[in-house]
Amino acid sequence: MGTDIVALCKEMIAIPSVSHDEENLAGFVANHLSQFSSIGISRIGNNVIAKSSMNRPNRVIIAGHLDTVPADDNLVPRLEDGRIYGLGSADMKSGLAVMLGLAEIAGSFSFDTTFIFYACEEVATSFSGLLEIERVNPDVFRGDVAVLMEPSSSRIEAGCQGTMRVEIIIRGQRAHTARPWVGVNAIHRAAGIISRLAEVDLGTSMIDSLQFRESLQVVKVHGGVANNVVPDLATIVLNYRFAPNKTVEEAFEFVKSLVENLLDQDGDEVVLEEGVLGALPNLSDPFISRLREASSAVPNAKLGWTDVAFFVARGIPATNFGPGDPLLAHTKNEFVEVSEIELAFTTMRNVLSL
Ligand SMILES: [Zn+2]
Repeated sequence: MGTDIVALCKEMIAIPSVSHDEENLAGFVANHLSQFSSIGISRIGNNVIAKSSMNRPNRVIIAGHLDTVPADDNLVPRLEDGRIYGLGSADMKSGLAVMLGLAEIAGSFSFDTTFIFYACEEVATSFSGLLEIERVNPDVFRGDVAVLMEPSSSRIEAGCQGTMRVEIIIRGQRAHTARPWVGVNAIHRAAGIISRLAEVDLGTSMIDSLQFRESLQVVKVHGGVANNVVPDLATIVLNYRFAPNKTVEEAFEFVKSLVENLLDQDGDEVVLEEGVLGALPNLSDPFISRLREASSAVPNAKLGWTDVAFFVARGIPATNFGPGDPLLAHTKNEFVEVSEIELAFTTMRNVLSL
């Protein structure tokens, strides 16, 4: 391998690329890729696509986002004790460095490869670079399988959970606080619903022997009129992370069933504000199962939502597999182990060469 992927990772950390501001990093990536003869490069906005065209029977898409969350005094990369520290080291400039290393030797693989370096993953989905690419050239997503090089400690983190935001609107009746019995306190009613939600036992769904542990959290509560008024309105916002074998409708029905008998059917409402489907693990896909055999660690279920769901929704089996501990993503002390970068690279190279 000619490219020093560890040096590349450090170099890319030093190029700021907060969401919407990926132009310089996209330029760096495109310029680096232009040295390699076995791939063709195209650019759509701040997204860079590199493809080999060797008429191999199967095509593997390898994708990673260029953007990071805002810096927290951690923009300057530092190599220390076998770790690279700095913003985006784990999420996911080490993954991007592995992609550049693989692109360099794409001509030697037994698969055709499409490398997608995309913008705006860390912000609202409507800005996603993947959607921008799809609007301009949906053919980019022609492939048999996709690997998202999101941080997963160089092991398979299969599938991903679905997520939804639900608002529960609780109504009451205003009254003077000195004579509350002529009104109905909506906040007091909300309290019962909040404790029901806080105590719910969600359990774990086993899918392909992976544990998808669900979670449901109340994330916002609003209410109140004045210091001497019994409030007539309270709202509760919750976030439910559900197993990928449930549809959005099924997950929403479940949330409704939790609170149904506490609601006043005339005035209260349960509103689905946003819901996105998860992605099944796809461990039986031939490429993903080879990746699984080649990586020494046992696969985990992905707890969280990732762009794996973007690919799976388009009929392309996909998995997360990349260097970096997902728990360090978005933290001030973010780092990646150099050994994990090397492990992710060699594992991918070996599987692509099979
Ligand atoms: Zn990420």
